[in-house]
Amino acid sequence: MGSSIIFLGSGGARFVVARQLRASGGMWFRFGSTQIHVDPGPGALVRALSHVPPCNPRELDAIALSHKHLDHSGDVNALIEAMTSGGFRRRGTLLAPADAFDDEHVVLPYTLRFVERVERLTASSGPYRVGAIEVFTSMRHVHAVETYGLHFVYDGLRVSYLPCGRYFDGLAADYAAHRPDVLVVNVLRFADQMNADHLTWQDARRVVAEVRPKVAVFSHFGTKMLEADPPRLAEQLEDELGLRVIAAYDDYVLDIDTEVAAAL
Ligand SMILES: [Zn+2]
Ligand SMILES: [Zn+2]
Repeated sequence: MGSSIIFLGSGGARFVVARQLRASGGMWFRFGSTQIHVDPGPGALVRALSHVPPCNPRELDAIALSHKHLDHSGDVNALIEAMTSGGFRRRGTLLAPADAFDDEHVVLPYTLRFVERVERLTASSGPYRVGAIEVFTSMRHVHAVETYGLHFVYDGLRVSYLPCGRYFDGLAADYAAHRPDVLVVNVLRFADQMNADHLTWQDARRVVAEVRPKVAVFSHFGTKMLEADPPRLAEQLEDELGLRVIAAYDDYVLDIDTEVAAAL
């Protein structure tokens, strides 16, 4: 069995998510028979079940949150119930930053009891073993809440996910150190008018140019990024850097084996 990422949503930011201009269901990773749902935002359960063919939450090995903002965690409790057959089958792993369980928790205490194993993520830690894969965290991102990137290693294949956060010196180097074959980057803003804790398109290209994965995928677009036409931007960057660059869209399936093999 191969590896793939199903984008159950490619939208980010409050405005896009509130209007569902793009869906916000997060990403469904398959590494062989190991399956992990990452960042199940609002609508994640519906998007998983309505994908063709459906993603089956009862087959999930883990649910992982990069951070607790709503566009990444809105459906986490619904997914936990679905993964555990309504709580009747205690199973699966939940990986989330420690503050997802604090006073302003997003994981409800009652659904937490349905999960077999809970990993409270800390910076630059791991491996956390899930099925056939190992998960490592990045250094802490500069974002309003505790936020970590996730590095997945499976059978020699390396896939990294760079979630939301502000650009800072050392961010790209931290990801480059994991030598990802595939790098998924959340790029919410096109240009910075509000000085927000998010990557702009310029920041995102800088990171990809420094990390130089075989395949880069952009997702989690805000309004201005959508207006700037992500597929066009991806194509330009692909020519510029000489590596495969893809703009995700709702229900896009990244066939990791095929894309990485083509990039060799
Ligand atoms: Zn976000
Ligand atoms: Zn956020």
